[in-house]
Amino acid sequence: MKSIKIKKILVIVLAVLVLLSGSFIGYRVISEQQRRKQLIAAFSSEPGYESSLNERYLAYHDRNEGVDIAELLVLVNAGIDQLEIEYDRRLAGFVKAEGFKPEEVQRYLDYSNRTKADEATVVGLVSHGVDQLDVEYGDRLIAIMNDPYFLWNRIGRYCEYDSEHDGDQLNVRSLVERVNCNLDMIPKNGDFHADPAKGKQILVNNYYDLAEEYVPTNLVDVDKAYSSKGARMDAEAYEHLVELISEARRAGLKVTIYGDNGYRSYSYQATVYDYYVKMLGREDGEKRAAQPGYSEHQTGLAADLTVSNISYKGYNQAKGFKWLADNCHKFGYIVRYPDDKTDVTGYTYERWHFRYVGVEAASVIHETGLTFDEYYAFYIEQE
Ligand SMILES: [Zn+2]
Repeated sequence: MKSIKIKKILVIVLAVLVLLSGSFIGYRVISEQQRRKQLIAAFSSEPGYESSLNERYLAYHDRNEGVDIAELLVLVNAGIDQLEIEYDRRLAGFVKAEGFKPEEVQRYLDYSNRTKADEATVVGLVSHGVDQLDVEYGDRLIAIMNDPYFLWNRIGRYCEYDSEHDGDQLNVRSLVERVNCNLDMIPKNGDFHADPAKGKQILVNNYYDLAEEYVPTNLVDVDKAYSSKGARMDAEAYEHLVELISEARRAGLKVTIYGDNGYRSYSYQATVYDYYVKMLGREDGEKRAAQPGYSEHQTGLAADLTVSNISYKGYNQAKGFKWLADNCHKFGYIVRYPDDKTDVTGYTYERWHFRYVGVEAASVIHETGLTFDEYYAFYIEQE
């Protein structure tokens, strides 16, 4: 009797155990589902969440427990979870940097190990190939990158120019300015061409040339009152020149175009160039007159001006040109070849040569003291 009772008890105990373990397994299944639900809820409250990536978020989370949810989303969205790269706290910084490419992550890590630079800088330098150059990451390179007119796409050129001019002790501003003005390139070599699509901001200099057949589409005749020899100019540039001349008149100054020196055709420029080269020799002649195709006068946007006093002769011209230099930007004009920039413009100081670039560009150039060459590199060419 006793043993039967014991057997019964055993059966009951076993049954209870079986039931308990079953519900335990059930509980575990439910808790796993709940855990996934909770995680997905957490993912979905983060910016950039994509429901199609749920499985990858979960898998990356399980592989790298403790990684911040927001960071995890950033990494998976960028495809880092698909790479054979272990989690590293720098990864999110790389992903957020401009120019990031998932296939370059190993190079970022290597360069970061070498330089200890911050993640955005590492991505910038690697994406421009600086990690492959023989350039030390140090104060000089950092100073170059901090120049206000630093251009990422010229970083290799800054480094090269700097190493070639090691003994010159160039300050960083001059170094960046020179490269921005293409002084590291050979002039008149056909590397670049003037781009008429840039409108009033077209750059023409010793590096950017115009085709022989280029003629501006909207040339107008300048009134005889402003050009005794009958110049022509771009219509918009002329309209603004007339306003400048009127303002000068109110200041007691008489401003006119010197001779017919507004628009010059390619062939006319050839005549002017030959004249100066014959008179001064090639080197000095070229500082006064551009080779045909390389003159701003071919754009119709430049004019050589004279200035005198309305009421008396013997007026100090320098004062008149000073007034023009101080005021021309209000009408969209700049002194194109300033006194202190002859090394970067390639021209001796021409206080008479004014160029129309539009009021906005002229104002920036007036305020910053940039040459138009550098303004173009920084503000126009990059667009
Ligand atoms: Zn000129």
